[in-house]
Amino acid sequence: MSSLQKKTDVILIGAGVMSATLGSILKELAPDWNIKVFEKLGGAGEESSNEWNNAGTGHAALCELNYTSEKPDGSIDISKAVKVNEQFQLSRQYWSYLVKSKLIKNPQDFIMPIPHISFVQGKQNVSFLKRRMEALSNNPLFHGMEYTDNAEKLKEWIPLIMEGRTSSEPIAATKIDSGTDVNFGALTRMLFEYLKTQKVEVHYKHSVKNIKRTSDGSWNVKVQNLNTGKSENHTAKFVFIGGGGGSLSLLQKTGIPESKNIGGFPVSGLFLACNNPEVVEQHHAKVYGKAKVGAPPMSVPHLDTRYIDNKKSLLFGPFAGFSPKFLKTGSNLDLLASVKPNNVLTMLAAGAKEMALTKYLIQQVMLSEEKRMEELREFVPAAKSEDWKIILAGQRVQVIKDTEAGGKGTLQFGTEVVSASDGSIAALLGASPGASTAVHVMLEVLEKCFPQHMFKWQAKIKEMVPSYGVSLVENPELFQELHHSTAKTLGLYTAKKEVAYH
Ligand SMILES: Cc1cc2nc3c(=O)[nH]c(=O)nc-3n(C[C@H](O)[C@H](O)[C@H](O)COP(=O)(O)OP(=O)(O)OC[C@H]3O[C@@H](n4cnc5c(N)ncnc54)[C@H](O)[C@@H]3O)c2cc1C
Repeated sequence: MSSLQKKTDVILIGAGVMSATLGSILKELAPDWNIKVFEKLGGAGEESSNEWNNAGTGHAALCELNYTSEKPDGSIDISKAVKVNEQFQLSRQYWSYLVKSKLIKNPQDFIMPIPHISFVQGKQNVSFLKRRMEALSNNPLFHGMEYTDNAEKLKEWIPLIMEGRTSSEPIAATKIDSGTDVNFGALTRMLFEYLKTQKVEVHYKHSVKNIKRTSDGSWNVKVQNLNTGKSENHTAKFVFIGGGGGSLSLLQKTGIPESKNIGGFPVSGLFLACNNPEVVEQHHAKVYGKAKVGAPPMSVPHLDTRYIDNKKSLLFGPFAGFSPKFLKTGSNLDLLASVKPNNVLTMLAAGAKEMALTKYLIQQVMLSEEKRMEELREFVPAAKSEDWKIILAGQRVQVIKDTEAGGKGTLQFGTEVVSASDGSIAALLGASPGASTAVHVMLEVLEKCFPQHMFKWQAKIKEMVPSYGVSLVENPELFQELHHSTAKTLGLYTAKKEVAYH
């Protein structure tokens, strides 16, 4: 075992979209800083960020009904939708900066325009959708959204979903054309290729085993080289734990007070994928439905057009399920190993509270292929089993913590940056809205961990993300201007590549 102490300014653990985003932002802000990355798999973007492991939705709350809840008086609360949309705009602006600065060559390698549609069935849901539309229609961030309950119009928007539909149940949809499909795997790989050109040391097949504070306040990261089996020690003044589902166990190893009383609840996912070109051609949208009563928000059914590997395909799902693994490539012991003396009560409380959810997820795992096809047929009545095959999606680890509102062991559905009080280490936990808000979340990491540099960095951050620190909903002209310019740079107005995909 080698005990070499190799010093650096920054260590990023994990080569997913979060480390890619943070690394590339830091290289712009502090080009002289030395950055090392350790990733246990053989390449970048192979876990949740991989294009086949997530749904690739540029989450801007344009079609996801779980971001607009119904208040007791029947009115619709759009605050979460506005927040998610504003956060997505930061990603659009940063990606646009990457393209303009030629750090990324062709935007259509990772982002494509695609209408975002919400589709509901049943009288109550139609009424909800109508009220949601009214609540959003005057908001500049949702400009261009259309509503219809007219069958002919729906056939135009979603022919595949309307084909063979015999039910007399009322149905309705909203559509907005400014949605996107994002290949987060491709984006991650492109950013890591760029980082390598900036002398960032990227070590694949290197698994981080331990993280300990050194006497001078920096961090010692113990890494195992999986090719040789040898261990190495690296020290850094700042460590970002971007291990996706693997982040919780690494955070626990740091022993920082902020890591206590936190647990993780793993949720697995499956998609049904369709590659039959005749079927694929009949659908051109991301269509989000409403989650069934008792189902968690991450199991909202949706039928998505995807652009992957220069090919158009369809994904339906995700079917949420239960697996004790924290990463798709993880171990069945992950959940058990995450239970520590400091979080056991929190975990037990969550276990008792979330019995119904656990039961639901276990039932989902047990679903037969035919049952899954039946769920698909609620969306696509004419779906044929031979056109669809099951693929295993990524693993999401939801945060469990004690909160004032929810009490002990409350399950969280958002993302959470946990950092040491001196800002020397930060971890990202949770999974939603996910990769779409990577830029917002990584700017939060900078604010928490580098407050002493933020004044100096302001101008560059504003160059990369012009609306940073500004509310777009309160500045509709700025929103219009940035939305237009980013759409132009990212090629979202011209769907030229469409032709190539056919
Ligand atoms: C089913 C599903 C659907 C989703 N759909 C969407 C969507 O439509 N839109 C959206 O925006 N987001 C979506 N997400 C969320 C999104 O995929 C994630 O938020 C995002 O990819 C997380 O990126 P990350 O970099 O944190 O993690 P990851 O991409 O998982 O990367 C973490 C990396 O850390 C590595 N690692 C872990 N432990 C160690 C260790 N000890 N040593 C070294 N390396 C380690 C892992 O191997 C991995 O490569 C979805 C997620 C799932 C699972």
